[in-house]
Amino acid sequence: MPEQALYLSWRPLAFDEMVGQEHITRTLRNALRSDRVRHAYLFSGPRGTGKTTTARLLAKAVNCLHPDPDRRPCNECAACIAVNEGRFLDLIEIDAATHTGVDDVRDLREKVAFSPGEGRFKVYIIDEVHRFSGSAFDALLKTLEEPPEHAIFVLATTEIDKVPATIKSRCLQFEFRRFSVTEVADRLERIVEAEALHAERPALERIARQGGGSMRDSISLLDQIVTDPTELISLELVERVLGTASDAAVRALVEAVIAQDAASGLRVIQSAMDHGSDPRQFAQQTVEHLRAVLLAQMAGPELIEASEADRSLYAGQAAAIGRSSLLRALRAFNDAIAGTRGGWQPQLALELALVGSVRGAEEVVTVYAAPPAAHTPATAEPLPPALADHPGPHGITAAAINDRWDEVLRIMSRFSKTSPDVMKYFRAQRVEGNVVYLVAENETYFKRINPYPEKQSVIVRALREVFRVPFTLHLSLGGAAASPAEQPLDLNDPLLSAGAEYGAEIRRVDQ
Ligand SMILES: [Zn+2]
Repeated sequence: MPEQALYLSWRPLAFDEMVGQEHITRTLRNALRSDRVRHAYLFSGPRGTGKTTTARLLAKAVNCLHPDPDRRPCNECAACIAVNEGRFLDLIEIDAATHTGVDDVRDLREKVAFSPGEGRFKVYIIDEVHRFSGSAFDALLKTLEEPPEHAIFVLATTEIDKVPATIKSRCLQFEFRRFSVTEVADRLERIVEAEALHAERPALERIARQGGGSMRDSISLLDQIVTDPTELISLELVERVLGTASDAAVRALVEAVIAQDAASGLRVIQSAMDHGSDPRQFAQQTVEHLRAVLLAQMAGPELIEASEADRSLYAGQAAAIGRSSLLRALRAFNDAIAGTRGGWQPQLALELALVGSVRGAEEVVTVYAAPPAAHTPATAEPLPPALADHPGPHGITAAAINDRWDEVLRIMSRFSKTSPDVMKYFRAQRVEGNVVYLVAENETYFKRINPYPEKQSVIVRALREVFRVPFTLHLSLGGAAASPAEQPLDLNDPLLSAGAEYGAEIRRVDQ
């Protein structure tokens, strides 16, 4: 591994290397070619989207000594090399976060009058310019009103709304957009190849999603994850290092919300925490997922940036949940993000969000008993679980799915070799809206499908081909292994009392 941080060694040195933001680099290159570079630019956009990188490229290009303007910056001439090595005297970078005062700007105004020492242009990059004080802005404005011929100002900000209109009107403005997951993952893939590392594509996509559209953050995350260059960067490794829950866990939680099944949801949360997921991350991932479902419901899945399989998942879930339940869940988990910070039990915020999300019209929280632990006789009368189909408008029942299961398996075999063999041992138990509840005969088969979203997407696809309905799946384990012990509910459990506070009726249901 290089000693320098990856994101520094992979900072683009030429316009060609910039990912995304083509609208900006094209305009700047045209200006360079026709020698019509402006005296003031204002770059706005989220962090890590290439604002200062572009500013440095511009500084280098206007001072580059290469005879062909199209080849500037050449990265070979004395000026380019000096900029790349951070010792070019006419590139002045000011962090407005630490130089907020009017004196700093006065100083700048005095110095800007002097001609450049080495290059053609003095380039001032003022980062986070919105942090300037009012008087600092006034002083800057005076300079921008009458800039010396040899000066170029590039102001960069993540908060364009805080930049005074008088400043904006003096600048050519460029808005930098967030990078897409694909753009970031592509870039990471190139870095991985060039650094002779080994990574799975889904792992890189997970890093990209975590980076939230920031190239710098994503590359830094990659850097953090690589400790041993020979180790494969797998999805599992990334999830472990980042403390993110697996996609399967997030998905299972959302499915529990859709099925209004608090017990499954609580188990998903518990198991994710047991596997080292960070509660806050988990809440964020759940909000992201629910937001995608909302988008699919309101505008169609085409708008969502995701793989084909994920889009069909979101579409299926969007069809299976009502708008008000979805909004309630989104709000609850969004609030939970703040609640998971600190606190003596950050996981509780997640659990409360879940309970808040599943209180349905009839205000019932279904509580399943824990797996066998003690020989305590039941004190509550076990109620039968709701096993009847509630298929909604499409009218397809569990029996109908089981009748045509061979057909589903045949279609599955077109996409996958192993899934149909294993799926032979699953049966539809009931259909709830667009959720098909599949039960595995035994744990071995269950474990071969349940943790793998890609295998489940094959089933979803086959079901869609046979029934023309975008189903989502809920997998569970049938048979003896899954029957819960009859033990009393612990009414001191904070969750149950929270449920009761929400006005829920608490009742015990055995699977
Ligand atoms: Zn050059």
